[in-house]
Amino acid sequence: MCEFCLTFLKRKEQLQRHLRKCELRHPPGDEIYRNNSVSMFEVDGRKEKVYCQNLCYIAKLFLDHKTLYYDVDPFLFYVLCEVDAAGGHKMAGYFSKEKVSAEANNVACILVLPHHQRKGYGKLLIDVAYQITIREGAVGSPEKPLSDLGQLSFRSYWTEVLLRTLQAHRGNLSIKELSAVTAIKMEDIISTLQAINCIRFWKGQHVISVAPKIVDDHLAKHYARASLRCEPARLKWQPPDES
Ligand code: ZN
Repeated sequence: MCEFCLTFLKRKEQLQRHLRKCELRHPPGDEIYRNNSVSMFEVDGRKEKVYCQNLCYIAKLFLDHKTLYYDVDPFLFYVLCEVDAAGGHKMAGYFSKEKVSAEANNVACILVLPHHQRKGYGKLLIDVAYQITIREGAVGSPEKPLSDLGQLSFRSYWTEVLLRTLQAHRGNLSIKELSAVTAIKMEDIISTLQAINCIRFWKGQHVISVAPKIVDDHLAKHYARASLRCEPARLKWQPPDES
């Protein structure tokens, strides 16, 4: 497999011939994020069909219940790369997203390659997905069902983001306001805060009920080291012009 264009070939000699000719050094799309040696590209499934299909084949190797889509046209692919000393951008993971989602899903499929796991890339991919949703002025949620690992990653991301937001506002935010600030869907906020006992059902409604001290303690205990985040100033992305 060519690590730049993701073409796969049957024989080693074929690959060697390909590598001498292949000039691609980064995913075939727009670079939307760069922070030191970490870079992210937006690739359109309609414009780069073969690349995106190959990406799906790779994902299928690692995600048990992934449905293999040959029709990649309706999706955008956000490809995370590590940039090497020679300027080559090597794919470390990605997430895909439907261009138009009836269920307001902001992530369809998400993968970090096994040898790039435990570097915080999963959280970074999730954060980029939510930062994009914030710029769209929308709220989003990952496509269901989530894998066990996916469930853990999203739950951990939501908990950290929600608690940090509550901490910054001294807990004085409604669920609706939290959703507007973070682009996290209200259902996901409720289930996340319920799991850590920060929500009450009062007069027929879910309300946040947590003392600032509890928020501080939970963050200190579980999120002492801030996870890798998408720095909004480095994200070069604007919603497509409707016209
Ligand atoms: Zn190639």
